[in-house]
Amino acid sequence: MTDPSENAAPRSTSEIGSFHAHVYYDPATTRLEAERLRGWIGERFSVTLGRWHDVRVGPHDQAMFQVAFARQIFSELVPWLMLNHGRLSILVHPNTTNPRRDHLTDPLWIGSPLALHGEKLPEEAATEQAVPPNTNPVFRP
Ligand code: ZN
Repeated sequence: MTDPSENAAPRSTSEIGSFHAHVYYDPATTRLEAERLRGWIGERFSVTLGRWHDVRVGPHDQAMFQVAFARQIFSELVPWLMLNHGRLSILVHPNTTNPRRDHLTDPLWIGSPLALHGEKLPEEAATEQAVPPNTNPVFRP
């Protein structure tokens, strides 16, 4: 048996419409830390900060907020999150046409990986493109 993927061409990063970083926290113990990180992000990066979800939502197993960002932001934001996530876990995933694969197979974790409920995600969807940022950065990262 040969591996069916053996002769396949590699996937192109042009599949990626945008990225999400999901910042997880515990409402009882680490919400203040999450608030501080969210403030720091907003002061430094042109991104779209999502609503607070103090209860579990979608495939996520803990409270979290979402940071949506354009491909061009990745190389500044992700290394900065690696250095500044503190005790928080962060899931960084691409947005392609397969949200389940984006979250379960292809993401990277900063901090400790957490459970995800991938069965709640479709395997086919429109690629999410970056939306206009809602931050006004004043500091360099
Ligand atoms: Zn996401």
